[in-house]
Amino acid sequence: MLRIIFIAFLLFSLSAYALPRESRVPGGIAIIPLENNNATPRFKFKGKPVLITREKGQSLAIVGLPLSLKTGEYFISGYYGDSKTLVKKFFTVKDKKYTEQHITIKDKRKVNPYQKDMVRIGREQKRKRTAANHWSDVNPDLNFSLPVKGINTGSFGKRRFFNGQARRPHSGMDIAAEKGKPIASPADGIIIESGDFFFSGNIVYIQHGRGLITLFAHLDRIDVEVGEKVNKGQIIGTVGATGRVTGPHLHWSVGLNGNWVDPALFIEASESS
Ligand code: ZN
Repeated sequence: MLRIIFIAFLLFSLSAYALPRESRVPGGIAIIPLENNNATPRFKFKGKPVLITREKGQSLAIVGLPLSLKTGEYFISGYYGDSKTLVKKFFTVKDKKYTEQHITIKDKRKVNPYQKDMVRIGREQKRKRTAANHWSDVNPDLNFSLPVKGINTGSFGKRRFFNGQARRPHSGMDIAAEKGKPIASPADGIIIESGDFFFSGNIVYIQHGRGLITLFAHLDRIDVEVGEKVNKGQIIGTVGATGRVTGPHLHWSVGLNGNWVDPALFIEASESS
């Protein structure tokens, strides 16, 4: 009897944080309940398939909201099983004010690349887009662990200026940690992209299933290869200062349906600082 109670408790505690936190703002996540009929739901947001999971018997769409999204009403649309009836689920995205961040980069070429760098950057952006939009029909583990302990500089979403010039908002979490510190995969997955990129330095992309992607940039060392399966907690490389950086840190991004969302939503509040 005690053993049954213990197992029940264990199952409950394992599932208690199985979902990311919801935040219906640009760079956040909308969690939308779907009908619990026996037909498999397939929904899209802005033309891209959305992660659908089941939590305590309830079907849920976990929708990544791009940082560029304007305040207003949006919808996901799709079908249940073989049904031809298009279903729309509406939700409202609220405003979020992200502050500015001004960064001075000593290597000016990383802010204003040479003409010959542009070919390389273009090639890398194409590879990054492909990786960010990867889809596999595997149910992912949404209960992430922190890839490295360090100081979360809390800069997700900030509007960035490098040497006074406006650039795209910051699409990840920067965790300051010493060079050489091991980085662990936050969940089971497969390595889909890696290399030495102009801005990101040594970078690794992991796909966890159904469009859930994590990326790790500015690594000192990469310990995995494209195509390799990784388990939660497995070391994928070490913290470094490669690419466009001011010092050693891990840049960690989390993607859903092709959009980068705040990684802190996947980590318990007590763990992320
Ligand atoms: Zn960063």
